[in-house]
Amino acid sequence: MSQPARLEVLSCPGCAAPVPLSTDASVACPSCAAPVAIPEAYVRLAEASRGADAARRAAEPLWRALGGPPPRWARNLGMALVVLLPPLASVLVALLVKPALGAAELCAVATLPAVVPGAALWLWAAAVEASVLGVQAALTAAPPARAGGPATCRHCGAPLQLPAGALSATCSYCQADNLAVSAARLEAAQASQRLRAAVHSLADGSARLRTRRAMFALGALALCGLFGGAAELVLKALRSLHG
Ligand SMILES: [Zn+2]
Ligand SMILES: [Zn+2]
Repeated sequence: MSQPARLEVLSCPGCAAPVPLSTDASVACPSCAAPVAIPEAYVRLAEASRGADAARRAAEPLWRALGGPPPRWARNLGMALVVLLPPLASVLVALLVKPALGAAELCAVATLPAVVPGAALWLWAAAVEASVLGVQAALTAAPPARAGGPATCRHCGAPLQLPAGALSATCSYCQADNLAVSAARLEAAQASQRLRAAVHSLADGSARLRTRRAMFALGALALCGLFGGAAELVLKALRSLHG
């Protein structure tokens, strides 16, 4: 979508607070509630923003699906597998494989490879969570310019119209999507400036998360495959040493 020309953020003539745009002829100042007349060019900008607004609403369901951290059980299951699988695999292989393997062989063929599925699941969950927090932080609205005022656009600093309970809002000045400031843990996540600039809309953020989730899943699978292959080579080497 082509973006309309950028205009300076309109401010209230009474108290100088920046005001959000509207397609109406005037808007109530968010700071002093005085009516602020909206010049024609700004009304056109607000009208042009309606398209970006509709695109954001259409992208919200995908964002809701991709923009949350992986389920807590994934990480817990990964940790449980790391603890439980190696002894279990060692006992099973020791009981079932005849002639009996030496301690080094048992370690190469059973104990170490059994660490990998849990470690891969745990790493996958940690990597997805980190990238979700990063993209969330990049998309999150900036704090109000004045105490008690509306949240401001992360991109241009204009005040946002974010109704209570809303997931996100599109800035009527620059059409950047902004997530409502929510989870406290988000404060810990610092968005890089590069990511902040690269992610303009919820659709951008969702696309980025979808790619990363797929990459991390492939990485975890590749780790399992690599480790399985390495274990086999080590076992062969051990066998040739002993034989
Ligand atoms: Zn005012
Ligand atoms: Zn903006």
